[in-house]
Amino acid sequence: MQTLTVLGATGSIGESTLDVVARHPDRFRVFALTGRSRIERLAEQCRQFRPRFAVVSDVLAAERLTALLDGGGVDTEVLMGEAQLAAVSAAPQVDAVMAAIVGAAGLGPTLAAARAGKRVLLANKEALVMAGALFMNAVDQAGATLLPIDSEHNAVFQALPAGYDRQPDGSGVARIVLTASGGPFRDRDPATLVDVTPEEACAHPNWSMGRKISVDSATMMNKGLEVIEAHWLFGAPAERIDVVVHRQSVIHSMVEYVDGSVVAQLGNPDMRTPIAHALAYPERIVSGVGPLDLCRIGRLDFEAPDLRRFPCLALAYAALRAGGGMPAVLNAANEIAVERFLAGRIGYGDIAGIIESVMNAMTGAGDGSLEEIEAVDAEARRRAIARVDAREVV
Ligand code: NAD
Ligand code: MG
Repeated sequence: MQTLTVLGATGSIGESTLDVVARHPDRFRVFALTGRSRIERLAEQCRQFRPRFAVVSDVLAAERLTALLDGGGVDTEVLMGEAQLAAVSAAPQVDAVMAAIVGAAGLGPTLAAARAGKRVLLANKEALVMAGALFMNAVDQAGATLLPIDSEHNAVFQALPAGYDRQPDGSGVARIVLTASGGPFRDRDPATLVDVTPEEACAHPNWSMGRKISVDSATMMNKGLEVIEAHWLFGAPAERIDVVVHRQSVIHSMVEYVDGSVVAQLGNPDMRTPIAHALAYPERIVSGVGPLDLCRIGRLDFEAPDLRRFPCLALAYAALRAGGGMPAVLNAANEIAVERFLAGRIGYGDIAGIIESVMNAMTGAGDGSLEEIEAVDAEARRRAIARVDAREVV
């Protein structure tokens, strides 16, 4: 029996996680569920999974959840705030933590899980982009087990040699190849992209996901963040991590070996597969995902990413090569730009320019401590907001 905390339970990954968990009541027990919005949904989840704790972000949400659970025979205790997110991640009763909060807000509790030596199921790629060195160090120091949930990294994890230890040299690994669907705008003339709407940007052809990652997929910043994520997870330098556009999203990523072998992981595009893989690792459990029908799919296509269409991908490679705090700058500026785009305050065509100009204005230097990363993150956000204000259409 594994005892589990699900951070971001009400989101897309959180819901998929609980879908898999519900199929295996003999294997998993839920210790805590957390959510910032969709409190009604969180209450339903509490009634179904009966966690010891539920954590929300503010007083209103806490009152609402308490009222919804009142008299329902559920003895879940309602907690509130960042410190409690960390507490339910590091609690001694917990074996595994699904880190599925979106964005920088996930760093604190995910780091708390790593520092407590938990089995960390990592969906929150932004935490690793911001604080890769610090995070991996915490994993090593505490003897935590880090299992990637991002479909590409989960695929790479499955395709790497047994016992691989973040060191391509000597392991026979030549290159990591991340696949990308290309998002909803892969076939559009870049000149027509300037004023697409949030709804168009969130209409992903292959995956159903939260709104922030959907916009990141449209700009391909998501793939850029994933290149940085792969660097930290697998110890590969930028020049050994390639991206190939593969529109069917059937090959989830590949590892190329020095002898010319390429090992790929395939499956239907459904996050329950990597989630089930990480939940049960090294065993295998059913996930609810149907079998892959290659004859129906018929063909698999590949092409190089067009960096003119997707400047955010180039910015992410530049941030990785610059190192230091630059990935944190990239991430923070992107979070602000995407949030403001979703709020209708800037155009889609403004996103990459805002990120680039914030990167150009900052050195990204720092000692890599959490305080330094938080300071870099705050400074990049401040600069991005100033640029949004300057461009604002309203
Ligand atoms: P989502 O927006 O659907 O869900 C986010 C969850 O985090 C929700 O429960 C929300 O209430 C909570 N949350 C948001 N802001 C918070 C805050 N400030 N404090 C506390 N909780 C907060 O997002 P998602 O699509 O499930 O993505 C979650 C993470 O997983 C992201 O980092 C994303 O990049 C990664 N990921 C998602 C997918 C996918 O298919 N959805 C695939 C790979 C990786
Ligand atoms: Mg991914």
